[in-house]
Amino acid sequence: MQSDVLIIGGGIVGLACAAESASRGLTTILVEKNESFGMETSSRNSEVIHSGIYYPTGSLKARLCVRANHNIYSECECHNVWYNKCGKLIVAVTTDEIPSLEKLHTRALANGVEEIQILDPHDVHKIEPNIVCTGALFLPTTGIVDSHELMKSYLTEAKGYGADMVFNVEYLGVNQSNSSYQVELKDANGEIIKLNARYIINSAGLRSDKVAESFGIDIDEFGYRLHYNRGHYYSVSPSKSKTISHLVYPLPHERLVSVGIHITIDKGGRIKLGPDTEYIDSTVPETEWYKFDDSRREFFYSAVKRYFPILELEDLSPDQVGVRPKRVGSEKEIKDFIIHEEIDKDLPGIVNLVGIESPGLTCAREIAREVFDILKRNHSDIK
Ligand SMILES: Cc1cc2nc3c(=O)[nH]c(=O)nc-3n(C[C@H](O)[C@H](O)[C@H](O)COP(=O)(O)OP(=O)(O)OC[C@H]3O[C@@H](n4cnc5c(N)ncnc54)[C@H](O)[C@@H]3O)c2cc1C
Repeated sequence: MQSDVLIIGGGIVGLACAAESASRGLTTILVEKNESFGMETSSRNSEVIHSGIYYPTGSLKARLCVRANHNIYSECECHNVWYNKCGKLIVAVTTDEIPSLEKLHTRALANGVEEIQILDPHDVHKIEPNIVCTGALFLPTTGIVDSHELMKSYLTEAKGYGADMVFNVEYLGVNQSNSSYQVELKDANGEIIKLNARYIINSAGLRSDKVAESFGIDIDEFGYRLHYNRGHYYSVSPSKSKTISHLVYPLPHERLVSVGIHITIDKGGRIKLGPDTEYIDSTVPETEWYKFDDSRREFFYSAVKRYFPILELEDLSPDQVGVRPKRVGSEKEIKDFIIHEEIDKDLPGIVNLVGIESPGLTCAREIAREVFDILKRNHSDIK
């Protein structure tokens, strides 16, 4: 088998890369080890279209998120993907928190976040009477999206341009031969398939570090090793469904390990709380990662009750768990996405996408555009 481009992983980022690749006239194969697309992190998240407020100015996360927020709504319109541009409040609950809110506002302006406003408690009460705060930032361009429909739209677009999407096929390893790479894949029957590809895009999500390692890259030296951090969600009783119409977030974690336990609304109008943040010990087997730990109920309740006082403990029921692929193993710092063609490691045509945590859902299409901008700069056959 032969293809111009091989994409490893059929989460939202791989699917967006497949659409970008095939639309440029490149023969494209995407392999996904699960039986369908988006069965891992891409379907276990808050489904929020972020604005780009949180990330260090100049980082890939900030740059791509601001661009994505600007483009994604019209793209959803175009492809009939459900979204709700409901807007978001970031609330200060005590007066002590106001300086942090102001700092966040300054960062938002530096990042080019559009339409941001500072609200006083009176303004907040007018738009969200059930929220109490001492001040808030209002981000009208933040919204929610049906992540499954968004993924499906990338899949349909990629297929429309002739891409092959192959499920139940796992990437195993690679050998370099002249101007292309010979890749070994395993299908559901355990059969080994060989494929030649000139370009390989590693969008393997939680396993993108292992895939990078299979290319011969020292993942510790280059900061590619991933650490897993899980987040739980509780859903809130339907009796509270119409009590909020915007997403409501507290101030983020000081070093941005997470954006704080927030209130989101899903497509059906149901309120969800989450996610929290907990590093998974390396001894915990992967089969245990998504087990819900209900001992967190009180913690969630008191975290959100501060700014949403009508919440009652019995409103909460366990929902889902998602796992973040983090490039740091502790709550000490924030690291950027890696979007890198490995020319400097003598691996031209191999692009690694590592540490694609939030806002990766928002940014998937912009990440894909970035990948092909990089390839276009370095290879004359890429349009
Ligand atoms: C709790 C939580 C909340 C989040 N909230 C938001 C949010 O509100 N907004 C936002 O923008 N982002 C959010 N994110 C981030 C977002 O979900 C991710 O950035 C995004 O889904 C990553 O997509 P992906 O395609 O890189 O990875 P994945 O969805 O993990 O896909 C990778 C795929 O690669 C496949 N794969 C792995 N190894 C192989 C192999 N060897 N062979 C073949 N296939 C392989 C896997 O099976 C998987 O399907 C959140 C994440 C979490 C965990």
